[in-house]
Amino acid sequence: MIKRSEVETGREAAVDLLKKAHIMLSDAERMSLEVADFGLTNWPAEGSQIATIVNTDRIGLKLICLLPGQTLPEHWHTAIGDTPGKEETLRVAYGTLRLYLPGVEMILEGRIPEGKEPVYTCRNEVILRAPEQITLIPGTKHWMQGGAEGTVVYSISSAATCPLDPFTDPTIKRMPEIMEGT
Ligand code: ZN
Repeated sequence: MIKRSEVETGREAAVDLLKKAHIMLSDAERMSLEVADFGLTNWPAEGSQIATIVNTDRIGLKLICLLPGQTLPEHWHTAIGDTPGKEETLRVAYGTLRLYLPGVEMILEGRIPEGKEPVYTCRNEVILRAPEQITLIPGTKHWMQGGAEGTVVYSISSAATCPLDPFTDPTIKRMPEIMEGT
């Protein structure tokens, strides 16, 4: 559960970061900007702010806004029925992205959220600064974290299957539940 007040704070912070990235949103995009806690009730440590710009049966374009040190939990994009797993390119629009992939254990700049070591298995740190980008082939496990000044990342992908994509942490609920009046 995420509090209504946290949703509002998250949206404002995301709009600020987007301004720094010189990215404009329409009113409708701003109103629908998702503030996610992934059901962990640990926002802003584990969470993210996501604006969906394009989401068709074939392609997706999202803007992922991360607060300083905020972590988007480990997940991967698998095939669902006839829909192949999502291929995703991450391109940094503002700040520094800490991205974690399978491979040699090496974490220098970022950190695993406290007490969550078992559900953050990717330990190979890749630091990307605007305007660097990386393409992840479908099925690659990954998690990411905002840099010291906050981070804006374009996620350019084939058809988004996000609501069904698996996370390593079994307690995650992808669709946010907002606690009104708080
Ligand atoms: Zn992803």
